[in-house]
Amino acid sequence: MLGYNVWITDTEISSLQTQDLIPILLKINTLTPTPPSYHLTRYLLLSHTPHSPYLFLFSTRFISSTTLMSTIGKLSPCTSLLPPELLSLDPNAISLASSDYGKLIRVTPAAVLYPSSEDDILSLVRFSYGSFVPFSIAARGVGHSIRGQAMAHNGVVVDMRSLNNNSSGTRIRVYESSSSTSYADVGGEQLWIDVLRATLKHGLTPLSWTDYLYLTVGGTLSNAGISGQSFRHGPQISNVYEMDVITGRGEPVTCSKHINSELFYAVLGGLGQFGIITRARIALEPAPNRVRWIRMLYDDFATFTRDQEHLISIIGLDYVEGSLIMYQSPANNGRSSFFSPTDHSRIASLATEHGIIYCLELAKYYDNFAVDTVSEELHLLLQGLSFIPGFIFAKDVSYIDFLNRVRSGELKLQSQGLWDVPHPWLNLFVPRSQILDFDSGVFKGIILKQNKTTGPILVYPLNRNKWDDRMSATTPDEDIFYTIGLLQSSGMHDWEYLEDQNKEILQFCDKAGIKIKQYLPHYKTKGDWMNHFGPKWDKFQERKIKFDPEAILSPGQRIFTSF
Ligand SMILES: Cc1cc2nc3c(=O)[nH]c(=O)nc-3n(C[C@H](O)[C@H](O)[C@H](O)COP(=O)(O)OP(=O)(O)OC[C@H]3O[C@@H](n4cnc5c(N)ncnc54)[C@H](O)[C@@H]3O)c2cc1C
Repeated sequence: MLGYNVWITDTEISSLQTQDLIPILLKINTLTPTPPSYHLTRYLLLSHTPHSPYLFLFSTRFISSTTLMSTIGKLSPCTSLLPPELLSLDPNAISLASSDYGKLIRVTPAAVLYPSSEDDILSLVRFSYGSFVPFSIAARGVGHSIRGQAMAHNGVVVDMRSLNNNSSGTRIRVYESSSSTSYADVGGEQLWIDVLRATLKHGLTPLSWTDYLYLTVGGTLSNAGISGQSFRHGPQISNVYEMDVITGRGEPVTCSKHINSELFYAVLGGLGQFGIITRARIALEPAPNRVRWIRMLYDDFATFTRDQEHLISIIGLDYVEGSLIMYQSPANNGRSSFFSPTDHSRIASLATEHGIIYCLELAKYYDNFAVDTVSEELHLLLQGLSFIPGFIFAKDVSYIDFLNRVRSGELKLQSQGLWDVPHPWLNLFVPRSQILDFDSGVFKGIILKQNKTTGPILVYPLNRNKWDDRMSATTPDEDIFYTIGLLQSSGMHDWEYLEDQNKEILQFCDKAGIKIKQYLPHYKTKGDWMNHFGPKWDKFQERKIKFDPEAILSPGQRIFTSF
């Protein structure tokens, strides 16, 4: 496959598109008319035949020689080995790549690449980087972003999952070691659920998770990847040994803490700005068999957070989270089925009495041989906690069922047509010193008053010393900070009120001086991004210039491009 950059007038393009000779024309960029008599548009022309672009255009009958001269004058040829069948202009493919889980915005790419190997991605990035005016490229995991972060306006979306679908062998390889550390080498496109299943076959497991496992490795490593295990093991980005990355310069690079470390740290939490992750080496440990899963209810936020903070400071637990239960929302919040119908009615009465109650959730992993001792161990670990007497609930589940707990909620919502709906989510990190102000101003002051929650609201603390400040991910500047997940959903056409609520929350934090950081961030101005990264901004920008100087990658984050 050969590729050329061509400049073509509007009249020419309408003729060209009718020609069978031209299999793929990607509209890359519209410029102001130059010279004045022509409206020239830049196209990426991909051709099966090894013509020079001059001959190629000449072979189309519709171009007059004068126009042709003006066109040829703007040619900037370059070559690339990209199998044409992998680049799709199919309206269904384009439509899918124009949307994401958030269902709040649509951004249309020019084409979608379905790579069959990492080399296909390499060719695409090289092609763009070598072009006179490079076009943007967005890796897309499963598009579980909320606000177009995996989209590319007039560019190419790379459907990373097709690396898995087109691969003849497995792209998850587990390396067991009794003497040193075990690890798995996994494709960036792999789903965490598949990583879990593959490693469990060897009696091994990754250490750090997200609540939901149908997300890709490359997608979560581009953010951080957090859940109830992060207080202990750090986010997923803290549990990676090595990666293969295709940079925005079209260079394949293996990186780790020891080799090409600048790229390694840039990519982790780097919002897809520096390279496309094609392989990650994930730390593994022996997998437990069972999980004792516990929830306790509180009617006082200060007591709830004090107990949460205590639990993340001691050794012995494997998972600590928390959530709000509001008087008008179901106790399970559509996420996982935990409470029995009898528990439900007791909890609903409690929530009606208080308006808002807090649910502390924890888990202890154990093996079959520890079945007799786990209750006693937990009894000791939970001594001194101040939950409401009688409102402690326990369940015993397999390790995989525990980690995959959100899937049952997803399937239920899907069957009710409530999964593929708008999700105006807001995720925040809040410094520990300001979490009580956040509770009174946001949970009680805004959310409870508006009486309209339609999804889980998560709140749990994390230890900052488990994050590596050399990575791109950014957190509040305190030893403990809280993650807040306002994971609301709405009907197809009435999500604006939730967006208004999000704005109100951000404005409140701003006015009250609560130094939040957005997680899975989205901002509209460069100033906001500078503020988000704070002291890390200069480094972030330097790294961008070093690894993706043409700002080709992940334009949907809107950090270095408006699209
Ligand atoms: C139901 C649900 C539950 C969730 N729960 C959690 C949770 O518990 N914890 C948590 O941390 N997050 C959670 N998330 C958020 C999730 O981490 C993000 O949506 C993340 O973007 C992963 O989704 P994805 O794999 O579809 O990536 P995409 O949305 O496709 O991509 C996200 C960003 O990463 C870039 N990208 C994708 N793949 C690569 C790659 N291989 N190399 C480089 N860049 C890449 C994209 O260009 C884009 O900018 C949840 C999301 C959903 C929908």
